[in-house]
Amino acid sequence: MILKVSKLDDQKIEQLCLKGLSEVESFFDVKKPYNEPKFCLIDDRECIDYAYGTKTEAWVVGWGNGKYIFLLNPNNYEKESNHKYTDDEYSRLIKHEVIHYFYKSLTATDNPRWLTEGLSIYLSNQLARYKQRPTKFTTFLDYYDKTDAKIYKEAGFVIGCLINKFGKDKLLVFIRKLRGNKNSEDVDKIFTEIFGVELSYTEINKLL
Ligand SMILES: [Zn+2]
Repeated sequence: MILKVSKLDDQKIEQLCLKGLSEVESFFDVKKPYNEPKFCLIDDRECIDYAYGTKTEAWVVGWGNGKYIFLLNPNNYEKESNHKYTDDEYSRLIKHEVIHYFYKSLTATDNPRWLTEGLSIYLSNQLARYKQRPTKFTTFLDYYDKTDAKIYKEAGFVIGCLINKFGKDKLLVFIRKLRGNKNSEDVDKIFTEIFGVELSYTEINKLL
């Protein structure tokens, strides 16, 4: 099978990508030059499944591999996914994927998954999509190195709580310290060191 990926050739989409990049750069305080991600548009669901390596759900419209960021071509967005296309929605998608990219380059890992997913959701203003603000956190800590659709329910709200309570700068110190973390025990230790509380449901629920 031939994978139909196109380099960005649409001025508007290219502008949205550049805007997403520069906003996320300034959040993470990363200065040029650095290894910038390459954006690739994928034309349809069949090609997404092929590139992703497995059958994907209709809501999967973007992902990255640490070098490339793959996005469903905006021209086929509604036909090949269950999302409505607006420039705003697409900008949030770009930002979401760029945040994952920066997280990986700063920490050299994709773990803990709840953290990278939460950052991507919260910082790209996608929280509104998960209207149900949890009354209690009960699952996010299950997501150290696995992921499924349920990760989205709590992850973004956890990041919101951490930023509200401790501020963005402290969160960044935490993220930078995570470089090369090997397991969830490492993360727990660094969390307590930076925030002064345990990474547990009891402590995080106090921030809700
Ligand atoms: Zn994500």
